[in-house]
Amino acid sequence: MSLMEEILQTNEKFCANLPEEYKAYEHEDHHDSKLPKKHLAIVTCMDTRLVNFLEPCLGIKRGDAKIIKTVGNCLNGVFDTTVRSLLVCIYELGVKEIAIIGHHECGMAKTTSKSLTSGMLERGIAPDAIKMVEKELIEWTDSFQKPEENVMKVVSQLRENPLIPKDVKVHGLMFHPRSGRLELLDEQK
Ligand SMILES: [Zn+2]
Repeated sequence: MSLMEEILQTNEKFCANLPEEYKAYEHEDHHDSKLPKKHLAIVTCMDTRLVNFLEPCLGIKRGDAKIIKTVGNCLNGVFDTTVRSLLVCIYELGVKEIAIIGHHECGMAKTTSKSLTSGMLERGIAPDAIKMVEKELIEWTDSFQKPEENVMKVVSQLRENPLIPKDVKVHGLMFHPRSGRLELLDEQK
């Protein structure tokens, strides 16, 4: 069985007998049900250890928050995909606070433009294609040294972003992917 077949089979069984705790939205289809109850958007990393762990550690339940995941919770410009998601959060979905949650042992700290480039070349990616993104690749990967520094960088980039209104609070936090401990780096009051 392929992985997709396995997932589809599991899904069919799960939905045929949806557990009570997941039935809150079963018959609901109005706009309000999409609004995050805590008026919160979280930008965090795609690390697998955070799956099904970050939310319970923070007391975030289904329907509470918007969660945007990117590698290393990075930001790449004033109108990158993360900012675009946040703009929808703010202007369409009532988000009033943004939490940037980095984590210890983040793989992005070890990822370099060199490691990515050599991986691509080994897999037969054309050097011309790599050349096309070279500058951005270096800027994005090689500037990521420490996850804490990256969180604070993203926090200040968002606070200074001209597209984000000043009444939206942007906080910086660090999460430990093994102990689940959360540390506040900077809270905007
Ligand atoms: Zn990470």
